[in-house]
Amino acid sequence: MSTSSPGHDAVVVGAGHNGLVAANLLADAGWSVLVVEQQDQVGGAVRSDTEVHPGFVHDTFSAFYPFAAASPVISGLDLEQHGLRWRHPPAPVGHPFPDGGWALVHPDRHDTAAGLDAEHPGDGEAWLDLCRTWDRVGGPLLSAMLDPFPPVRGGARLLSRLPRAGGLHLVRELLTPAATFGASRFGGRGARTLIAGSAGHADIPLDSTGSGAFGLIMTMLAQSVGFPVPEGGAGRLTEAMARRLESRGGRVVLGTEVESVEVRGGRAVAVRTREGERYAARRAVVADVSAPLLYGRLLDPDDLPSRVARGMDSFELDPATVKVDWALSGPIPWASGPAVAPGSFHVGDSLSQLQGSLAEVAAGGVPQRPFLLAGQMTTSDPTRSPAGTESLWAYTHVPQSVGARWSRDDVERFGDRVEERIEELAPGFGSRVLARRVLGPRDLQERNASLVGGAVNGGTSQLHQMLVLRPVPGLGRPETGIGGLYLGSSSAHPSGGVHGAPGANAARAALLHHRLHSPVRAGAGLLARLDRSSAPDG
Ligand SMILES: Cc1cc2nc3c(=O)[nH]c(=O)nc-3n(C[C@H](O)[C@H](O)[C@H](O)COP(=O)(O)OP(=O)(O)OC[C@H]3O[C@@H](n4cnc5c(N)ncnc54)[C@H](O)[C@@H]3O)c2cc1C
Repeated sequence: MSTSSPGHDAVVVGAGHNGLVAANLLADAGWSVLVVEQQDQVGGAVRSDTEVHPGFVHDTFSAFYPFAAASPVISGLDLEQHGLRWRHPPAPVGHPFPDGGWALVHPDRHDTAAGLDAEHPGDGEAWLDLCRTWDRVGGPLLSAMLDPFPPVRGGARLLSRLPRAGGLHLVRELLTPAATFGASRFGGRGARTLIAGSAGHADIPLDSTGSGAFGLIMTMLAQSVGFPVPEGGAGRLTEAMARRLESRGGRVVLGTEVESVEVRGGRAVAVRTREGERYAARRAVVADVSAPLLYGRLLDPDDLPSRVARGMDSFELDPATVKVDWALSGPIPWASGPAVAPGSFHVGDSLSQLQGSLAEVAAGGVPQRPFLLAGQMTTSDPTRSPAGTESLWAYTHVPQSVGARWSRDDVERFGDRVEERIEELAPGFGSRVLARRVLGPRDLQERNASLVGGAVNGGTSQLHQMLVLRPVPGLGRPETGIGGLYLGSSSAHPSGGVHGAPGANAARAALLHHRLHSPVRAGAGLLARLDRSSAPDG
């Protein structure tokens, strides 16, 4: 039986961090907001759980939040007032080499420089030079990236700072692929590998444009704001967002799957749930779900503008993911430990091996020696597991076509391969494993329907699907072509990562549209203008 609720100004589909950011901004503007979430917990890909082993907290998906630390949207929410506490690992990121050497980003740039210089004289000064360039352009570069498209204000600030940061030479560098960008500034393997490994957080091949800029942004974020984690687990970040929303009158309903967005006369007017509930939206529906879900499942094909339907025919997901979580009885027994323990680390034998492994996935193969992103969570936040133990994860990618047909056994065998990579660097690692969980592409999607095929980014981050081409050509903004319906997830510009930009952009677009089109407001504005013009001195 279908029931109907009295309605809200806005209904947000999905309580991922972007949905919660949108909901908070709308509630701040005085709107009544309802968030409808399929899972029994808020957070989407920013969640934690305790199912791996008693006493251990694992982040189910994402874990480190440099983008959140640098995001004006997220810091503007003042989440510390709602229970959030950030913790920093001793060092943000490191890269162990098979010969026992390490490349490390230390919290202090001079320490990072000293480490790089010890390995290759001159690289220390080159690192400090890169940091100085970042000091000049990092802020405007980030805001040009996170602002709604086109990024007028951030873009203008960036242009005004460019001349003192290298001008067109820097522009050229930003367009240079990660593999060559590192080599253009550094002689040793340390910084080159750190930049390439950081670029490997996105799915842009290291010999393609975009990877250099991404590698630079990630390494410089590591150096400038660090790789913070929420005390107690990733979920504490989104729980704080939900608490803030509720303190402003917003509401979240959990365990409720939205089945469709109702469109009448070209306008989104309500959402309907699998349980038969209809939630009316007077002003806006914000979809914090991936583009294939919104355009392929929640909307009637007849309601879809033909430009969007055509664009979605060539929409490209990013690769599938396999993530392994371990509860360890002690720290990782490195054959040769780092000078300072990094929260996150990359596993790749060398720059060329790392590059080859990513290229193999892009070409549809499964690497024998996968490149890993990994995180030591108890090292980063001692509350994650009992003293002396470690809560660890690592993940890597496989092609969508392969991940889709893998059985449970295939996923576990690939988990073995991931584990062997760490065992090589830390003999005896396996003997410290108290419990292990391997999440394959299907497991990830079961826990969050937006992670279609285990894609972590809401669609590829390669240049052909970014900016004005995201998620489909012509839709670089949150508007969907359907009145009152906004896409506010990582499938929208500027894509994945926990910075809240797609959610904020969607909320601002909805608020602006309402302001411009509200008859009362427009009438009031007109009256005020008439009033001023009829005043004696007007
Ligand atoms: C394994 C993994 C590791 C990552 N690591 C990092 C990292 O360390 N740092 C970082 O910055 N980023 C990381 N990312 C990327 C980042 O987590 C995501 O880009 C970001 O969280 C996406 O947020 P979102 O709000 O757009 O979507 P999501 O967080 O995916 O939220 C979507 C929500 O919609 C809900 N939903 C879906 N369908 C429906 C429906 N029909 N009805 C109701 N609700 C629905 C889902 O349950 C979910 O809660 C990682 C991602 C993954 C998967």
